[in-house]
Amino acid sequence: MTYHAFLIKYAEIAIKGKNRYLFEDALVRQIRRTLTRTEGEFEVIKEQGRIYVLCPEQYDYDEVVSLLGTVFGIVEFCPVMIFEENGFEQMAEDAVTYMKRIHPGYAGTFKVFTRRANKHYPMTSMEVSAELGGHILDAFLEASVDVHEPALLLHVEIRDKIYFYSQTIKGPGGMPVGTNGKATLLLSGGIDSPVAGYMIAKRGVTIDAVYFHAPPYTSERAKQKVVDLAAVVARYSGPIRLHVVNFTDIQLYIYDKCPHDELTIIMRRYMMRIAEHFAVQGRSLGLITGESIGQVASQTMQSLLTTNAVCTLPVYRPVIGMDKQEIVERARQIGTFDTSILPYEDCCTIFVAKHPVTKPILKVIEKSERKLEEKIDDLLKTAIETTEVIVVE
Ligand code: ATP
Ligand code: MG
Repeated sequence: MTYHAFLIKYAEIAIKGKNRYLFEDALVRQIRRTLTRTEGEFEVIKEQGRIYVLCPEQYDYDEVVSLLGTVFGIVEFCPVMIFEENGFEQMAEDAVTYMKRIHPGYAGTFKVFTRRANKHYPMTSMEVSAELGGHILDAFLEASVDVHEPALLLHVEIRDKIYFYSQTIKGPGGMPVGTNGKATLLLSGGIDSPVAGYMIAKRGVTIDAVYFHAPPYTSERAKQKVVDLAAVVARYSGPIRLHVVNFTDIQLYIYDKCPHDELTIIMRRYMMRIAEHFAVQGRSLGLITGESIGQVASQTMQSLLTTNAVCTLPVYRPVIGMDKQEIVERARQIGTFDTSILPYEDCCTIFVAKHPVTKPILKVIEKSERKLEEKIDDLLKTAIETTEVIVVE
């Protein structure tokens, strides 16, 4: 295999003062966990403020690159070639070997940048850089040195061995999952809520999820679609405990008792209440939805106020200010879009009124909900008791 290791670069977590070690340890844990999904024994080490992934002799490079691209906290990572430390002449030869393999026939500008983790090395960093630059010039007649704006920056790190790298691959950024508590995502089969879950997980938050389905009005494949979406989010966030709530009887009861133009808003309020129940039970510190101001009738400012009124936990709405197109772009990037657009029915669309209220008044909605007093507590209790929990890895 060409590369022996990856250097992991992280920014945000480096500025967290005393917490830095906790964050680094979480990042190391997340990298280890993620790499168990590919063949081979990888070693993840933390050394002098750097994290390295040491690779086995045989591994699937493309798969490792795509897996590292899912670990929040990684800003960039660099594939590294490692050579034994065996005197400067050997190092110079190895630098040329590195260049020939990674940048064959290189004819642009370059600069060598050396870092000594081993301070006992008999040459200074500057001397090493200058000497290596000379050797590379001899081997690549059309290349030239540019110390100000080189097209290629060859990093040399003198450790117990010699590390060479010159390429940078973008990571997802954010903070390692597990460093910022837990929140409960209301996950539908749509485009927005998986993106919302991803965005909060990116801040280091562990995710639980709740899905409301309405059999037989919504099908088994609609539920499977949500499980599949949770699995895509879980690639980044780690395992998700998905609560599948049977919402049919509650919906039918609301349909029976309340004005039809208020159905969606009342239904949304019950979703929030049930989600909050599971959130509190699972020690979540907040709820997450995929709401965006003005996107549909149930997401006007008045509607948001009315649904929000039933929650005591904070509700995080990371896509609140995004246009649909922006959310779609995110969904494509993170890999949820193709699943989200599968045309299966959603419990919200089945009982939806032709002309839902767009400016609900809280007092009016609360009054309508009083018509549910007789049975709603029992129905909520049953919905909660019959909820199925699926751990999505
Ligand atoms: P999405 O694309 O996320 O489905 P949407 O544009 O369809 O959003 P709504 O149907 O108004 O919007 O739902 C708003 C939010 O309420 C969703 O983003 C999601 O967080 C939550 N939600 C809606 N339906 C469900 C459901 N069946 N199960 C769980 N949460 C839901
Ligand atoms: Mg939806």
